[in-house]
Amino acid sequence: MERNAKLRRAISLIIESGYQIDSDTFQILKEASKRIDIEHLIRSIIEEAKNLQEKSLFLSRKLIEKKISEMRKQAQTKKETFMTGKERYRPYAKEIESKVKVLKNPAENLSARGSLENYIKYFQDRFRKIQKILRRRMNSVNSGSIRLALKAPPNSKVGFTCMLMEKRESPRGIFLHVEDLEMDATVFVSSQNPELYNRAQRLMLDQVIFISAVKGKGDLLIAEEIMYPDLPLRKPNRAELPVYAALLSDMHIGSKMFMGKAFNRFLLWLKGKVGNQRLREIASHIKYLIIAGDIVDGVGIYPRQIEELEITDIYEQYRYAAKLLEEIPEYIDVILIPGNHDACRRSLPQPAILRKYAEPLYEAGRFRFLGNPCVLSLHGVKILVMHGRSLDDVISTVPGMSFERPDEAMKFLLQCRHLAPTYGSRTLIASEPIDHLVIEDEPDIFHAGHVHMMSYSNYRGTLIVNSGAWQEQTEYQREMGHTPNPGIIPIVNLQSLEVFPIDFTLNI
Ligand code: ZN
Ligand code: FE
Repeated sequence: MERNAKLRRAISLIIESGYQIDSDTFQILKEASKRIDIEHLIRSIIEEAKNLQEKSLFLSRKLIEKKISEMRKQAQTKKETFMTGKERYRPYAKEIESKVKVLKNPAENLSARGSLENYIKYFQDRFRKIQKILRRRMNSVNSGSIRLALKAPPNSKVGFTCMLMEKRESPRGIFLHVEDLEMDATVFVSSQNPELYNRAQRLMLDQVIFISAVKGKGDLLIAEEIMYPDLPLRKPNRAELPVYAALLSDMHIGSKMFMGKAFNRFLLWLKGKVGNQRLREIASHIKYLIIAGDIVDGVGIYPRQIEELEITDIYEQYRYAAKLLEEIPEYIDVILIPGNHDACRRSLPQPAILRKYAEPLYEAGRFRFLGNPCVLSLHGVKILVMHGRSLDDVISTVPGMSFERPDEAMKFLLQCRHLAPTYGSRTLIASEPIDHLVIEDEPDIFHAGHVHMMSYSNYRGTLIVNSGAWQEQTEYQREMGHTPNPGIIPIVNLQSLEVFPIDFTLNI
Protein backbone atom coordinates (compact mmCIF):
# COMPACT_ATOMS: atom_id res chain seq x y z
CA MET A 1 0.00 0.00 0.00
CA GLU A 2 2.60 2.41 1.11
CA ARG A 3 4.72 1.64 -1.90
CA ASN A 4 1.83 2.31 -4.23
CA ALA A 5 1.18 5.64 -2.57
CA LYS A 6 4.80 6.52 -3.08
CA LEU A 7 4.62 5.49 -6.71
CA ARG A 8 1.50 7.61 -7.24
CA ARG A 9 3.22 10.62 -5.68
CA ALA A 10 6.20 10.06 -7.94
CA ILE A 11 4.04 9.90 -11.04
CA SER A 12 2.25 13.12 -10.16
CA LEU A 13 5.66 14.70 -9.66
CA ILE A 14 6.48 13.80 -13.29
CA ILE A 15 3.26 15.35 -14.54
CA GLU A 16 3.64 18.50 -12.43
CA SER A 17 7.08 18.99 -13.95
CA GLY A 18 5.55 18.90 -17.43
CA TYR A 19 6.70 15.44 -18.47
CA GLN A 20 4.95 12.28 -19.48
CA ILE A 21 5.79 8.58 -19.47
CA ASP A 22 4.59 5.69 -21.60
CA SER A 23 3.30 2.42 -20.23
CA ASP A 24 6.65 0.62 -20.73
CA THR A 25 8.55 3.10 -18.61
CA PHE A 26 5.73 3.08 -16.07
CA GLN A 27 6.27 -0.69 -15.67
CA ILE A 28 9.99 -0.15 -15.21
CA LEU A 29 9.40 2.46 -12.52
CA LYS A 30 6.86 0.28 -10.79
CA GLU A 31 9.37 -2.56 -10.70
CA ALA A 32 12.15 -0.30 -9.47
CA SER A 33 9.98 1.11 -6.68
CA LYS A 34 10.19 -2.28 -4.96
CA ARG A 35 13.87 -1.83 -4.35
CA ILE A 36 14.74 1.85 -4.35
CA ASP A 37 13.37 5.17 -3.18
CA ILE A 38 11.17 6.03 -6.15
CA GLU A 39 10.65 9.68 -5.30
CA HIS A 40 14.36 10.28 -5.04
CA LEU A 41 14.80 8.48 -8.37
CA ILE A 42 12.16 10.59 -10.14
CA ARG A 43 13.61 13.82 -8.83
CA SER A 44 17.03 12.99 -10.15
CA ILE A 45 15.58 11.88 -13.51
CA ILE A 46 13.67 15.16 -13.88
CA GLU A 47 16.76 17.09 -12.87
CA GLU A 48 18.80 15.45 -15.58
CA ALA A 49 16.02 15.69 -18.22
CA LYS A 50 15.90 19.47 -17.68
CA ASN A 51 19.57 19.72 -18.51
CA LEU A 52 19.32 17.68 -21.69
CA GLN A 53 20.09 19.43 -24.97
CA GLU A 54 17.22 17.73 -26.79
CA LYS A 55 14.00 18.61 -25.02
CA SER A 56 11.32 15.99 -25.13
CA LEU A 57 7.90 15.55 -23.57
CA PHE A 58 8.50 11.92 -22.71
CA LEU A 59 11.12 10.81 -20.24
CA SER A 60 13.24 8.39 -22.21
CA ARG A 61 13.54 4.79 -21.20
CA LYS A 62 17.32 5.01 -21.60
CA LEU A 63 17.60 7.85 -19.10
CA ILE A 64 15.37 6.10 -16.57
CA GLU A 65 17.31 2.85 -16.80
CA LYS A 66 20.60 4.67 -16.41
CA LYS A 67 19.43 6.41 -13.24
CA ILE A 68 18.04 3.21 -11.78
CA SER A 69 21.34 1.40 -12.22
CA GLU A 70 23.25 4.33 -10.69
CA MET A 71 21.06 4.28 -7.63
CA ARG A 72 21.36 0.53 -7.27
CA LYS A 73 25.13 0.78 -7.29
CA GLN A 74 25.06 3.44 -4.63
CA ALA A 75 22.77 1.35 -2.47
CA GLN A 76 25.01 -1.65 -2.94
CA THR A 77 28.22 0.08 -1.80
CA LYS A 78 26.35 1.53 1.16
CA LYS A 79 25.27 -1.94 2.15
CA GLU A 80 28.78 -3.33 1.73
CA THR A 81 30.38 -0.59 3.79
CA PHE A 82 27.79 -1.13 6.44
CA MET A 83 28.54 -4.80 6.54
CA THR A 84 32.30 -4.39 6.80
CA GLY A 85 32.12 -1.35 9.04
CA LYS A 86 33.94 0.77 6.47
CA GLU A 87 31.52 3.64 6.36
CA ARG A 88 33.22 6.52 4.63
CA TYR A 89 35.82 7.88 7.03
CA ARG A 90 36.71 11.49 6.40
CA PRO A 91 39.25 12.46 9.04
CA TYR A 92 39.03 16.02 10.24
CA ALA A 93 42.80 16.17 10.78
CA LYS A 94 43.41 15.46 7.09
CA GLU A 95 41.98 18.85 6.17
CA ILE A 96 44.19 20.65 8.65
CA GLU A 97 47.64 21.97 8.02
CA SER A 98 50.36 20.68 10.30
CA LYS A 99 51.77 23.38 12.57
CA VAL A 100 54.93 22.09 14.21
CA LYS A 101 57.76 24.24 15.47
CA VAL A 102 60.85 22.76 17.04
CA LEU A 103 61.66 25.16 19.86
CA LYS A 104 64.51 23.21 21.37
CA ASN A 105 66.46 20.31 20.05
CA PRO A 106 69.75 20.16 21.97
CA ALA A 107 70.83 17.27 19.80
CA GLU A 108 71.69 19.80 17.11
CA ASN A 109 74.52 21.51 18.96
CA LEU A 110 76.28 18.97 21.08
CA SER A 111 79.91 19.45 21.88
CA ALA A 112 82.44 16.88 20.74
CA ARG A 113 83.61 15.40 24.04
CA GLY A 114 83.66 15.92 27.75
CA SER A 115 86.44 17.51 29.75
CA LEU A 116 86.92 18.69 33.32
CA GLU A 117 86.48 22.24 32.11
CA ASN A 118 83.13 21.34 30.55
CA TYR A 119 82.10 19.65 33.75
CA ILE A 120 82.67 22.83 35.76
CA LYS A 121 80.99 24.98 33.13
CA TYR A 122 78.06 22.59 33.10
CA PHE A 123 77.31 23.11 36.78
CA GLN A 124 77.83 26.86 36.53
CA ASP A 125 75.35 26.98 33.68
CA ARG A 126 72.81 24.93 35.62
CA PHE A 127 73.27 27.15 38.65
CA ARG A 128 72.83 30.42 36.71
CA LYS A 129 69.81 29.22 34.79
CA ILE A 130 67.95 28.01 37.86
CA GLN A 131 68.98 31.05 39.89
CA LYS A 132 67.33 33.18 37.22
CA ILE A 133 64.12 31.20 37.61
CA LEU A 134 64.27 31.53 41.40
CA ARG A 135 64.82 35.29 41.12
CA ARG A 136 61.84 35.66 38.82
CA ARG A 137 59.79 33.76 41.32
CA MET A 138 60.79 35.67 44.42
CA ASN A 139 61.59 39.04 42.83
CA SER A 140 62.92 41.00 45.84
CA VAL A 141 64.18 38.67 48.55
CA ASN A 142 66.99 37.05 46.82
CA SER A 143 70.17 39.07 46.57
CA GLY A 144 72.14 37.00 49.06
CA SER A 145 75.01 34.57 48.63
CA ILE A 146 76.79 32.03 50.82
CA ARG A 147 79.66 34.50 51.30
CA LEU A 148 77.30 37.18 52.66
CA ALA A 149 75.51 34.64 54.84
CA LEU A 150 78.73 33.46 56.45
CA LYS A 151 79.83 37.06 57.08
CA ALA A 152 76.52 38.00 58.71
CA PRO A 153 76.42 38.44 62.53
CA PRO A 154 74.95 35.58 64.63
CA ASN A 155 71.14 35.35 64.70
CA SER A 156 70.66 37.41 61.55
CA LYS A 157 68.44 36.18 58.72
CA VAL A 158 70.15 35.19 55.51
CA GLY A 159 69.13 33.71 52.15
CA PHE A 160 70.95 32.34 49.12
CA THR A 161 70.65 30.15 46.06
CA CYS A 162 72.73 26.99 46.29
CA MET A 163 73.33 23.54 44.91
CA LEU A 164 73.05 20.51 47.17
CA MET A 165 76.35 18.59 47.27
CA GLU A 166 75.78 16.21 50.14
CA LYS A 167 73.08 15.22 52.58
CA ARG A 168 73.76 13.65 55.99
CA GLU A 169 70.92 12.51 58.19
CA SER A 170 71.24 12.31 61.97
CA PRO A 171 68.63 11.82 64.69
CA ARG A 172 68.66 15.57 65.40
CA GLY A 173 68.24 16.63 61.82
CA ILE A 174 69.75 16.76 58.35
CA PHE A 175 73.03 18.45 57.46
CA LEU A 176 73.03 19.84 53.95
CA HIS A 177 76.36 20.58 52.38
CA VAL A 178 75.67 23.28 49.81
CA GLU A 179 77.62 25.35 47.32
CA ASP A 180 77.19 28.40 45.14
CA LEU A 181 79.54 29.77 42.48
CA GLU A 182 82.01 31.02 45.13
CA MET A 183 81.87 29.01 48.32
CA ASP A 184 80.36 26.16 50.26
CA ALA A 185 78.60 25.92 53.61
CA THR A 186 76.72 23.55 55.90
CA VAL A 187 73.03 24.10 56.57
CA PHE A 188 71.25 22.32 59.40
CA VAL A 189 67.61 21.30 59.11
CA SER A 190 66.19 20.42 62.51
CA SER A 191 63.88 17.44 62.95
CA GLN A 192 61.92 19.71 65.34
CA ASN A 193 60.44 21.27 62.22
CA PRO A 194 58.81 18.22 60.59
CA GLU A 195 57.53 19.98 57.50
CA LEU A 196 60.90 21.45 56.63
CA TYR A 197 62.60 18.20 57.58
CA ASN A 198 60.41 16.32 55.07
CA ARG A 199 61.23 18.87 52.44
CA ALA A 200 64.95 18.39 53.06
CA GLN A 201 64.54 14.61 52.93
CA ARG A 202 63.03 14.89 49.48
CA LEU A 203 65.92 16.93 48.08
CA MET A 204 68.00 15.26 45.41
CA LEU A 205 71.73 15.78 45.14
CA ASP A 206 72.85 18.50 42.70
CA GLN A 207 69.47 20.18 42.88
CA VAL A 208 69.49 24.00 42.89
CA ILE A 209 67.30 25.60 45.58
CA PHE A 210 66.92 28.74 47.61
CA ILE A 211 67.47 28.50 51.37
CA SER A 212 66.37 31.03 53.97
CA ALA A 213 68.33 30.52 57.18
CA VAL A 214 69.44 32.00 60.47
CA LYS A 215 73.12 32.44 61.13
CA GLY A 216 74.13 30.23 64.06
CA LYS A 217 77.32 29.75 66.02
CA GLY A 218 80.49 29.72 63.91
CA ASP A 219 79.79 28.92 60.29
CA LEU A 220 76.63 26.89 60.83
CA LEU A 221 73.45 28.05 59.13
CA ILE A 222 70.06 26.91 60.44
CA ALA A 223 67.45 26.49 57.72
CA GLU A 224 64.07 28.19 58.02
CA GLU A 225 62.80 27.59 54.54
CA ILE A 226 63.74 25.62 51.45
CA MET A 227 62.32 26.82 48.17
CA TYR A 228 62.17 25.05 44.86
CA PRO A 229 62.32 27.04 41.63
CA ASP A 230 58.96 25.40 40.75
CA LEU A 231 56.39 26.44 38.16
CA PRO A 232 54.33 29.59 38.48
CA LEU A 233 50.57 29.09 38.42
CA ARG A 234 49.39 30.02 34.95
CA LYS A 235 47.01 29.39 32.06
CA PRO A 236 48.39 27.05 29.40
CA ASN A 237 48.42 27.86 25.68
CA ARG A 238 45.78 26.08 23.65
CA ALA A 239 45.34 25.26 19.97
CA GLU A 240 42.83 27.33 18.04
CA LEU A 241 41.37 24.14 16.52
CA PRO A 242 40.27 20.79 17.91
CA VAL A 243 43.42 18.93 16.83
CA TYR A 244 44.62 15.96 18.88
CA ALA A 245 47.97 14.39 19.62
CA ALA A 246 48.50 10.72 20.42
CA LEU A 247 51.28 10.34 22.96
CA LEU A 248 53.21 7.07 22.83
CA SER A 249 56.43 5.57 24.06
CA ASP A 250 58.19 2.33 24.87
CA MET A 251 57.05 0.06 22.09
CA HIS A 252 60.12 -2.14 22.53
CA ILE A 253 59.75 -3.66 19.07
CA GLY A 254 61.89 -6.78 18.86
CA SER A 255 61.02 -7.89 22.38
CA LYS A 256 59.04 -11.09 22.85
CA MET A 257 56.75 -9.01 25.02
CA PHE A 258 55.95 -6.42 22.33
CA MET A 259 52.16 -6.27 22.11
CA GLY A 260 51.80 -6.60 18.36
CA LYS A 261 48.11 -7.38 18.43
CA ALA A 262 47.18 -4.33 20.49
CA PHE A 263 49.49 -2.14 18.42
CA ASN A 264 47.88 -3.34 15.20
CA ARG A 265 44.49 -2.52 16.63
CA PHE A 266 45.80 0.95 17.39
CA LEU A 267 46.97 1.31 13.76
CA LEU A 268 43.59 0.15 12.44
CA TRP A 269 41.90 2.63 14.73
CA LEU A 270 44.09 5.47 13.41
CA LYS A 271 42.86 4.53 9.92
CA GLY A 272 39.24 4.70 11.06
CA LYS A 273 38.74 0.97 10.66
CA VAL A 274 37.85 -0.04 14.21
CA GLY A 275 36.07 1.46 17.17
CA ASN A 276 32.61 2.79 17.82
CA GLN A 277 31.35 6.16 16.64
CA ARG A 278 32.90 8.05 19.54
CA LEU A 279 36.31 6.38 19.23
CA ARG A 280 36.37 6.95 15.47
CA GLU A 281 35.51 10.57 16.04
CA ILE A 282 38.53 10.87 18.34
CA ALA A 283 40.78 9.11 15.81
CA SER A 284 39.69 11.50 13.08
CA HIS A 285 41.10 14.47 15.01
CA ILE A 286 44.58 13.05 15.48
CA LYS A 287 47.12 15.15 13.65
CA TYR A 288 50.24 14.34 15.67
CA LEU A 289 51.84 11.26 17.06
CA ILE A 290 54.74 11.70 19.44
CA ILE A 291 56.86 8.72 20.40
CA ALA A 292 58.98 9.43 23.48
CA GLY A 293 61.64 6.78 22.97
CA ASP A 294 62.31 3.05 23.31
CA ILE A 295 60.93 2.40 19.85
CA VAL A 296 62.88 -0.86 19.71
CA ASP A 297 64.11 -3.11 22.51
CA GLY A 298 67.70 -2.90 21.28
CA VAL A 299 70.38 -5.52 21.71
CA GLY A 300 72.65 -5.97 24.73
CA ILE A 301 70.89 -3.31 26.80
CA TYR A 302 70.73 -5.48 29.93
CA PRO A 303 72.20 -8.85 30.93
CA ARG A 304 70.63 -11.87 29.21
CA GLN A 305 68.32 -9.66 27.14
CA ILE A 306 68.85 -12.06 24.23
CA GLU A 307 66.52 -14.58 25.92
CA GLU A 308 63.70 -12.06 25.78
CA LEU A 309 64.20 -11.01 22.16
CA GLU A 310 62.02 -12.05 19.27
CA ILE A 311 64.20 -10.12 16.79
CA THR A 312 67.85 -10.32 17.78
CA ASP A 313 69.27 -7.90 15.21
CA ILE A 314 69.04 -4.17 15.82
CA TYR A 315 68.73 -3.40 12.07
CA GLU A 316 65.87 -5.86 11.77
CA GLN A 317 64.16 -4.34 14.81
CA TYR A 318 64.14 -0.92 13.15
CA ARG A 319 63.09 -2.45 9.84
CA TYR A 320 60.06 -3.95 11.53
CA ALA A 321 59.40 -0.68 13.37
CA ALA A 322 59.38 1.14 10.02
CA LYS A 323 56.98 -1.40 8.58
CA LEU A 324 54.54 -0.79 11.42
CA LEU A 325 54.88 2.98 11.59
CA GLU A 326 54.43 3.35 7.86
CA GLU A 327 50.87 2.15 8.44
CA ILE A 328 50.11 5.46 10.14
CA PRO A 329 48.00 7.63 7.81
CA GLU A 330 50.12 10.08 5.78
CA TYR A 331 48.42 13.21 7.12
CA ILE A 332 49.57 12.45 10.69
CA ASP A 333 52.83 14.12 11.65
CA VAL A 334 55.04 11.62 13.49
CA ILE A 335 57.80 12.74 15.86
CA LEU A 336 60.36 10.32 17.28
CA ILE A 337 62.93 10.76 20.04
CA PRO A 338 65.31 8.09 21.37
CA GLY A 339 65.11 6.25 24.68
CA ASN A 340 67.68 4.21 26.56
CA HIS A 341 66.92 1.16 24.40
CA ASP A 342 67.40 2.94 21.07
CA ALA A 343 70.49 3.10 18.90
CA CYS A 344 71.96 6.27 20.29
CA ARG A 345 74.52 7.46 22.85
CA ARG A 346 73.31 6.76 26.39
CA SER A 347 74.06 10.07 28.07
CA LEU A 348 71.70 13.03 28.07
CA PRO A 349 70.95 14.96 26.00
CA GLN A 350 70.67 12.23 23.38
CA PRO A 351 70.86 13.18 19.72
CA ALA A 352 68.27 11.72 17.35
CA ILE A 353 68.25 7.96 16.72
CA LEU A 354 71.25 7.09 14.56
CA ARG A 355 70.43 6.82 10.90
CA LYS A 356 72.98 4.07 10.48
CA TYR A 357 70.81 1.66 12.47
CA ALA A 358 67.38 2.97 11.63
CA GLU A 359 67.78 3.38 7.89
CA PRO A 360 64.30 2.07 6.94
CA LEU A 361 62.68 4.61 9.27
CA TYR A 362 64.68 7.44 7.73
CA GLU A 363 64.06 6.07 4.25
CA ALA A 364 60.33 6.40 4.76
CA GLY A 365 60.99 10.14 4.54
CA ARG A 366 58.03 11.20 6.61
CA PHE A 367 59.12 11.00 10.25
CA ARG A 368 60.76 13.75 12.28
CA PHE A 369 63.75 12.64 14.32
CA LEU A 370 64.56 14.80 17.32
CA GLY A 371 66.79 14.51 20.37
CA ASN A 372 65.93 13.58 23.93
CA PRO A 373 64.79 15.92 25.48
CA CYS A 374 63.22 18.41 23.08
CA VAL A 375 60.58 21.12 23.11
CA LEU A 376 57.95 21.44 20.39
CA SER A 377 55.13 23.79 19.65
CA LEU A 378 52.03 22.23 18.11
CA HIS A 379 49.54 24.94 17.15
CA GLY A 380 51.10 27.14 19.84
CA VAL A 381 50.92 24.46 22.56
CA LYS A 382 54.36 23.96 24.04
CA ILE A 383 55.29 20.32 24.63
CA LEU A 384 58.35 19.18 26.51
CA VAL A 385 59.20 15.61 25.47
CA MET A 386 61.74 13.39 27.17
CA HIS A 387 62.20 9.67 27.46
CA GLY A 388 62.38 9.66 31.25
CA ARG A 389 65.32 7.58 32.42
CA SER A 390 65.79 9.98 35.33
CA LEU A 391 62.35 9.02 36.66
CA ASP A 392 64.06 5.86 37.98
CA ASP A 393 66.36 8.06 40.07
CA VAL A 394 63.52 10.22 41.36
CA ILE A 395 61.36 7.23 42.23
CA SER A 396 64.17 5.39 44.00
CA THR A 397 65.55 8.32 46.02
CA VAL A 398 62.67 10.67 46.81
CA PRO A 399 60.45 9.46 49.67
CA GLY A 400 56.81 8.90 48.74
CA MET A 401 57.40 8.23 45.02
CA SER A 402 56.31 5.05 43.25
CA PHE A 403 56.41 3.36 39.85
CA GLU A 404 52.61 3.39 39.93
CA ARG A 405 52.50 7.16 39.57
CA PRO A 406 55.27 8.37 37.26
CA ASP A 407 53.31 11.61 36.81
CA GLU A 408 54.16 12.42 40.45
CA ALA A 409 57.86 11.97 39.73
CA MET A 410 57.45 14.16 36.64
CA LYS A 411 55.80 16.81 38.79
CA PHE A 412 58.83 16.68 41.07
CA LEU A 413 61.08 17.38 38.07
CA LEU A 414 58.94 20.38 37.17
CA GLN A 415 59.34 21.66 40.73
CA CYS A 416 63.12 21.22 40.44
CA ARG A 417 62.98 22.80 36.97
CA HIS A 418 65.41 20.11 35.90
CA LEU A 419 64.98 16.88 33.94
CA ALA A 420 67.72 14.91 35.71
CA PRO A 421 68.77 16.64 38.92
CA THR A 422 71.37 14.15 40.14
CA TYR A 423 74.57 13.86 38.19
CA GLY A 424 76.35 10.51 38.04
CA SER A 425 73.38 8.42 39.09
CA ARG A 426 71.64 5.88 36.87
CA THR A 427 70.90 8.67 34.42
CA LEU A 428 74.07 9.49 32.56
CA ILE A 429 74.60 13.13 31.70
CA ALA A 430 77.12 14.17 29.06
CA SER A 431 79.68 16.75 30.11
CA GLU A 432 78.49 19.53 27.93
CA PRO A 433 79.39 23.10 28.81
CA ILE A 434 75.66 23.91 28.66
CA ASP A 435 72.97 22.30 30.76
CA HIS A 436 70.27 21.41 28.26
CA LEU A 437 68.23 19.73 30.96
CA VAL A 438 67.09 22.84 32.84
CA ILE A 439 63.37 23.39 32.25
CA GLU A 440 63.75 27.02 31.23
CA ASP A 441 60.26 27.66 29.85
CA GLU A 442 57.09 26.41 31.42
CA PRO A 443 55.65 23.65 29.21
CA ASP A 444 51.92 23.36 28.52
CA ILE A 445 52.35 19.60 28.23
CA PHE A 446 55.13 17.51 29.74
CA HIS A 447 55.35 14.13 28.03
CA ALA A 448 57.61 11.25 29.12
CA GLY A 449 57.60 7.47 29.06
CA HIS A 450 60.11 4.89 30.30
CA VAL A 451 58.18 3.74 33.38
CA HIS A 452 55.62 1.73 31.36
CA MET A 453 52.77 3.14 33.41
CA MET A 454 50.23 5.37 31.72
CA SER A 455 49.29 8.13 34.13
CA TYR A 456 48.49 11.79 33.86
CA SER A 457 47.61 14.79 35.97
CA ASN A 458 47.66 18.53 36.01
CA TYR A 459 50.14 20.68 37.84
CA ARG A 460 49.88 24.46 37.94
CA GLY A 461 48.53 24.63 34.40
CA THR A 462 50.84 22.00 32.93
CA LEU A 463 49.38 18.73 31.71
CA ILE A 464 51.72 15.93 32.80
CA VAL A 465 51.45 12.71 30.80
CA ASN A 466 53.36 9.49 31.06
CA SER A 467 52.47 7.55 27.96
CA GLY A 468 52.85 3.97 29.18
CA ALA A 469 54.14 1.22 26.92
CA TRP A 470 53.43 -1.52 24.37
CA GLN A 471 55.35 -4.21 26.18
CA GLU A 472 53.96 -6.78 28.58
CA GLN A 473 55.56 -7.10 32.00
CA THR A 474 59.21 -8.12 31.70
CA GLU A 475 61.10 -10.50 33.95
CA TYR A 476 62.99 -7.55 35.41
CA GLN A 477 59.77 -5.67 36.21
CA ARG A 478 58.36 -8.80 37.83
CA GLU A 479 61.43 -9.04 40.06
CA MET A 480 61.08 -5.37 40.95
CA GLY A 481 57.41 -5.89 41.79
CA HIS A 482 56.37 -3.38 39.14
CA THR A 483 53.13 -4.16 37.28
CA PRO A 484 52.88 -1.93 34.21
CA ASN A 485 49.66 -1.02 32.38
CA PRO A 486 50.72 -1.36 28.71
CA GLY A 487 48.50 -0.88 25.67
CA ILE A 488 46.62 2.14 27.00
CA ILE A 489 47.37 5.33 25.17
CA PRO A 490 46.54 8.89 26.14
CA ILE A 491 45.10 11.09 23.39
CA VAL A 492 45.32 14.80 24.11
CA ASN A 493 42.96 17.39 22.70
CA LEU A 494 45.30 20.33 22.06
CA GLN A 495 42.41 22.78 22.17
CA SER A 496 41.10 21.83 25.61
CA LEU A 497 44.09 19.86 26.96
CA GLU A 498 41.66 17.09 27.87
CA VAL A 499 43.01 13.53 27.87
CA PHE A 500 41.21 10.47 26.48
CA PRO A 501 42.98 7.26 27.45
CA ILE A 502 42.13 4.38 25.12
CA ASP A 503 42.83 0.78 26.02
CA PHE A 504 43.90 -1.20 22.95
CA THR A 505 44.21 -4.44 24.83
CA LEU A 506 40.42 -4.51 24.67
CA ASN A 507 38.59 -5.47 21.54
CA ILE A 508 37.46 -1.99 20.59
ZN1 ZN B 1 60.93 1.39 27.98
FE1 FE C 1 63.15 3.32 28.72
